[in-house]
Amino acid sequence: MSRGRIPVDRYRERLGRAQDAVGRAGDAAALVGVGTDLRWLIGYEAMPLERLTLLVLRPSGRPILIVPRLERSAALAAPGAAAGYVDLVTWDETDDPIRNVVQALNGSPNAATPGEAAALRVSDSLRAAFLLRLQAALPHARFGLASAVTSPLRQVKDADEIALLTEAAHAADRTVAAIFAGRLIDRTEADVAREVRERLVAEGHDTADFAIVASGPNAASPHHEASARVIGSGDSIVLDIGGSVGGYHSDVTRTAWVTGARDGAPEPAFAELFSVLLRAQAAARSAARPGVACMDVDAAARDIIDAAGFADAFFHRTGHGIGLDGHEDPYLVSGNAAPLAAGNAFSIEPGIYLEDRFGARIEDIVVCSAEGSKELNRADRDLAVVTGLG
Ligand code: ZN
Ligand code: ZN
Ligand code: ZN
Repeated sequence: MSRGRIPVDRYRERLGRAQDAVGRAGDAAALVGVGTDLRWLIGYEAMPLERLTLLVLRPSGRPILIVPRLERSAALAAPGAAAGYVDLVTWDETDDPIRNVVQALNGSPNAATPGEAAALRVSDSLRAAFLLRLQAALPHARFGLASAVTSPLRQVKDADEIALLTEAAHAADRTVAAIFAGRLIDRTEADVAREVRERLVAEGHDTADFAIVASGPNAASPHHEASARVIGSGDSIVLDIGGSVGGYHSDVTRTAWVTGARDGAPEPAFAELFSVLLRAQAAARSAARPGVACMDVDAAARDIIDAAGFADAFFHRTGHGIGLDGHEDPYLVSGNAAPLAAGNAFSIEPGIYLEDRFGARIEDIVVCSAEGSKELNRADRDLAVVTGLG
């Protein structure tokens, strides 16, 4: 299988664009700890340790990556570090790495000094313990979130990122098809979920991250954990699965009806509910185009579901951005007036959930482009009526 990847000079571009954004925001620096911002900036998938790893990104000057000495080789192996785009500073086990941060900030004429007020941004997932120590060492600094700077950049995916998202989407699609074609009757949800995880990896994912297998009344809970419930004929099944390829995530949901017999058919009430959902999901997909507010895409799905009398049965947002994080900006939710832009990648996943009866959801990952939204998932969206006999 051909594997997509991010060309190394992309990291230099990203660092440069992030530095410009820090400068435009009037900030002294962005302090990026372990997490997906760090991975996006230099390709470093660092271990989330209690020891501080921090990229100090000032508007000008070379980015400085502060790492524990024992992580030095791992850090140097990251593409952005291997290419020499950052200066590496290591700290020893008995050092206080916060001092390295203060020193890195003082290296620039317009950066913070401990006695001077400056605006600093920390990555959203930086541990509270590190932030508190930084705040104690820099009592006059104002702290904000680095996502204000990184998220607008990360939301617009480049062609290589879209290639990885596509590869992941197709691997997830093949997994859905295999599960629905296989045996379901007399198996527990947990057993099917185990098979999902195995297949996600076998189909090309580096990681299998989640496998929601929600049968019968369990599907009324959108984030149901696969349980010991045994699947039988006359059950609906919501399969919501995902993993990652090169750090980029898949997330697909398809719904099936298990007949247990060659000539079985879904319960009419369920078929009716599903046809409403199918229309709602298609409406949201066609509403998604550059310039359209995120909340209007949500409304496109919600209006159809509400009009069919299921308003109370659709109680989550219509979608979320996806990339290095499984859930990231932009969020397609009521109240989010931010306009979509070409290159945004996000899910469209309305659902209808009837307590104690059943539930259904259809989820695609789409990429917004000048021509509208393009689905990365190819798996048939219609209700999969399967025998479950294998
Ligand atoms: Zn979800
Ligand atoms: Zn999902
Ligand atoms: Zn999702």
